[in-house]
Amino acid sequence: MPSNQSTDICIVGGGPAGMVLGLLLASRGIKVTVLESHKNFDREYRGEVLMPRFIQMMKQVGLFDHLMKYPHLKLKNFELFWKDQPLVTVSIANLSNDAPFALWMPQPILLNALWDKAKAYPNFQILFGAMVRDVIRENGKIVGVIVEQEGEKFEIRSSVVVGADGRSSIVRKSADFEFEYESYDFDVIWFTVKHPVGYENTVRAFFSSRHRYLVLPKYPDSVQCGLIVPKGDFLRFRQRGIEAIRSELLDGHPVMHEFARGLKDFNDFNVLQARVSYVRKWAQDGCLLVGDAAHTCSPAGAIGVSVAVATAIVAADVLVKAFAKKDFSENVLSEVQEKRGQDVKRIQHIQSQFTSVFFLRYPHLQWLSKFGIMLAAKTGLLRRLQRELMVMQKPLPIESEISL
Ligand SMILES: Cc1cc2nc3c(=O)[nH]c(=O)nc-3n(C[C@H](O)[C@H](O)[C@H](O)COP(=O)(O)OP(=O)(O)OC[C@H]3O[C@@H](n4cnc5c(N)ncnc54)[C@H](O)[C@@H]3O)c2cc1C
Repeated sequence: MPSNQSTDICIVGGGPAGMVLGLLLASRGIKVTVLESHKNFDREYRGEVLMPRFIQMMKQVGLFDHLMKYPHLKLKNFELFWKDQPLVTVSIANLSNDAPFALWMPQPILLNALWDKAKAYPNFQILFGAMVRDVIRENGKIVGVIVEQEGEKFEIRSSVVVGADGRSSIVRKSADFEFEYESYDFDVIWFTVKHPVGYENTVRAFFSSRHRYLVLPKYPDSVQCGLIVPKGDFLRFRQRGIEAIRSELLDGHPVMHEFARGLKDFNDFNVLQARVSYVRKWAQDGCLLVGDAAHTCSPAGAIGVSVAVATAIVAADVLVKAFAKKDFSENVLSEVQEKRGQDVKRIQHIQSQFTSVFFLRYPHLQWLSKFGIMLAAKTGLLRRLQRELMVMQKPLPIESEISL
């Protein structure tokens, strides 16, 4: 039977940001409780491509060698096609010396790897099936959360509550954090098919005047396809029925045809809304937002996990200092945003430029994307955007000894 508890820090959400933060703080002797609403880490289509910037930051905090013990694929190239014809190949391998590849590592593998490491610390606990319903505010300060587990409600009190609960964050809503901006441009409709030989380590994007889709290798022997469609199109497909999306897929790359022919309903699809958001202030007295809860990136460049985890690592550094001073005021916690806010906005801006090159925001001008891509490749713009999105230009600004 769940009962009221207290801890040093309560992290709401066991996604990549919450787990990295929890692990780094536990390694510094802080008593950590992570609350995860799901019963385990099994989840699909969530941040499975991890770009070189993720590898760089894992090296910076000493987690890279540990992660490499778990199943993964190394991705070396990004190939762009116009219909079936190769248009441009951009190498991921020579973007940075310290991270000459991207990784395919599904989130269940990544999160279990982080948990395996965290189990070494008796001061780390994670509660699964623990849904946070509200924050507890006393004298203007956040002092804990109300959790529901197995149908029972109880309180967890802590010096700090961290909202690492993703793009629909309950901590953000119940603690009245406000967005500075939020927008939504397009949808990606994901599904998985068995892969033909030769798909192991290349990310492919196919364009035509009617289609845009991604074909990504997926560990161990599938490809993950993502149709990029104007916002709301998935709903329109649903209204038009299964034949409408079947003929859309049959019109595309042969790799999708067998899947299309076998389609019975919409359950095999998973939709990612390309939402971009930024919370005006990430900290209040006793409370901090990190990861997608504070800032959501567009899917351009597949860097959502990297950006979320970068904020978590900087937050770990700031929180270690806050625990040393026993000061959890907004003033102290807002150092996380001071150090990360500009970088997040810059990345979101570059993603918006990237989106323009591919005309994703203007579906009626899609036919122009061939010229946009070729021009961007010829002038070096594509390479610059790729480098700025996928690689960290300098190490994360952490001062204390945040490494494992
Ligand atoms: C379909 C899809 C594909 C994507 N592909 C990529 C990709 O290839 N590469 C990439 O880098 N990024 C990708 N992203 C983005 C990436 O998944 C996110 O940016 C990243 O997971 C954010 O990490 P996070 O820890 O901040 O939040 P999340 O991963 O969203 O984790 C939040 C956690 O909080 C839990 N939670 C939520 N509410 C509560 C509550 N009330 N109580 C307790 N727990 C709660 C959730 O169950 C979840 O486990 C993709 C996203 C989607 C949706």
